[in-house]
Amino acid sequence: MKKILVLEDETNIRSFVVINLRRSGYEPIEAENGEMALEKLKVNTDLCLALLDVMLPGIDGFEVCRRIRASGSKMGIIMLTARTQEIDKVTGLMTGADDYVTKPFSPAELLARVDALVRRVAVDEDEKSSVELKSGPFVLNTRNRTLEKNSQRLKLTQIEYMLMKLFMENPGKAMSREDILASVWGNDFNGELKTVDVNIRRLRIKIEDDPTEPEYLTTVWGYGYKWGY
Ligand code: CA
Repeated sequence: MKKILVLEDETNIRSFVVINLRRSGYEPIEAENGEMALEKLKVNTDLCLALLDVMLPGIDGFEVCRRIRASGSKMGIIMLTARTQEIDKVTGLMTGADDYVTKPFSPAELLARVDALVRRVAVDEDEKSSVELKSGPFVLNTRNRTLEKNSQRLKLTQIEYMLMKLFMENPGKAMSREDILASVWGNDFNGELKTVDVNIRRLRIKIEDDPTEPEYLTTVWGYGYKWGY
């Protein structure tokens, strides 16, 4: 069930939202003030959406919104504003909210916005996962051509990046040095097979815990290499 944070200080409105979300198959997480919302955000890292009331005692909805975005979260955010707060809509969108709903709203109106945003967030997640290759402690991002090991960025040359991509796309498959040369350097490259070995050695220094005892990029004797993880 998709979790949705409901930040609203007015008990009646909050219950009304919570009941309707539950009826539509969502799992509402309630907060009656900004401080509580921040706590719930910390505990529920899998929140998909947040509904944030603007006017609150203490930390207001905009501040919560700002902090969600500052944490790097891409969750959907819908601000709940009063009709007299036209200016708030603009500010809300500028602090990183995706949408707003003006009070008083009907269940149908709220759920239409919620469903639409949940769908959009899901599509974004898909796109994100399709550009990321994951293997053990490694994440290769094919959009910005970067490699992370245990969330630490490793500096790779373009050749090293292409080698990593080739291996991570073919986990467990023994690749001959000829194949590696052809797919990374291209068929027209007149280089020696040694080029492969030299670059693999350099790559191992960057990615292996102990390059003399490779754990991820292993040697297939007399043939080539394998992504052994
Ligand atoms: Ca309020």
